[in-house]
Amino acid sequence: MEVPLMDLKTQYFDLRDDLLQAVDDALTSMQLNLGPNVQAFQEEFAQYCGSKYARGVGNGTEAIFFALEALGVGPGDEVITTAWTFFATIETIVHAGAAPVIVDINPDTYTLDPEEVADAITDKTRAVVPVHVFGHPADMDAILSITQPKGIAVIEDAAQAHGAKYKGKRVGSIGDAGTFSFYLTKNLGGYGEGGMITTSSDEVEDQIGLLRNHGHRSKYEHEIFGYNGRLDEIQAAMLRVKFRYLEEWNQTRRRLAAMYDERLADLPVETPYEAEWAEHVYHLYTIRTDRRDDLSAAFEEAQVGHSMHYRAPGHIQPACAPYNLASVELPVTTELAQRVIQLPMHPLLKEEEIDYVCDVIRKALA
Ligand SMILES: *Cc1c(COP(=O)(O)O)cnc(C)c1O
Repeated sequence: MEVPLMDLKTQYFDLRDDLLQAVDDALTSMQLNLGPNVQAFQEEFAQYCGSKYARGVGNGTEAIFFALEALGVGPGDEVITTAWTFFATIETIVHAGAAPVIVDINPDTYTLDPEEVADAITDKTRAVVPVHVFGHPADMDAILSITQPKGIAVIEDAAQAHGAKYKGKRVGSIGDAGTFSFYLTKNLGGYGEGGMITTSSDEVEDQIGLLRNHGHRSKYEHEIFGYNGRLDEIQAAMLRVKFRYLEEWNQTRRRLAAMYDERLADLPVETPYEAEWAEHVYHLYTIRTDRRDDLSAAFEEAQVGHSMHYRAPGHIQPACAPYNLASVELPVTTELAQRVIQLPMHPLLKEEEIDYVCDVIRKALA
């Protein structure tokens, strides 16, 4: 047997007729600049998240960057975030002209530790970017109770958590803005690049509208120096087809995660944690073990797809050298970097495949 980490081809063939029809309709209409699919998808996505607005942008990285800019982050500011994330979270803070301040994470949820955030706040702190990493929400109330009295903005990086819930609310609707990626492999992925920003603030929505479209207030008027950062109409057309299945796929991921949990319960590995206030959407199914090398060797041998996010967390990346982040003490992040490994997880994963993966783990650790 061979069990891939994910299976995007089979999913494409399942949806092929609808996807190709959606593309053909979009091309036939030839309304390809912020056309009817982008408009409708924004409405649908905002409603789903429980935000007043959703605005489609070029990708998830640009979504974070525009949210930072729209919330006034710039040179001289500090932005607090985690190293336990895809590098884009840190990259965009630097592109906005601010200094990234990296703090440690909670050892169970892997998301920003609110006490660490509180300790890192200075007069220069302008924003905090919690990441709902692997699909588990950050403890938003604890973070907001620290930031709100100080007027510090909160941007939720929800690139891995479309549909996840925090105390019954969808992620992306809780902070000042939420940012999403529709990269191929995400829980909701297109077939190219795409991103979305959610917000319930009229001012943030207005700024995003200008930033993503050359500062256009109207056809011949450029109010600010913006960017070419619109969500592509063809991607939006395909994303709307897939969006209809997001909730079902997330529930399937949760069911598959429970199967893994059960089969791994008596083995010397730690399975993912779900806080009682959280609804995890298992973008990645991550286990912890002191014998990761043995496991990865066994997976290679048995053709089981796996990954090790984040074996090299953001703060130790060569690009961060000018910010002296490598010397920051992050005991939880550092320990996890050596112990985590991800197992195959996608909505088409079969029970027999989970059995096979768990058998490989059992034998490798025997
Ligand atoms: C994927 C991802 C991004 C970037 O999204 P792109 O669409 O690839 O630009 C940002 N943050 C996190 C946590 C991600 O997983």
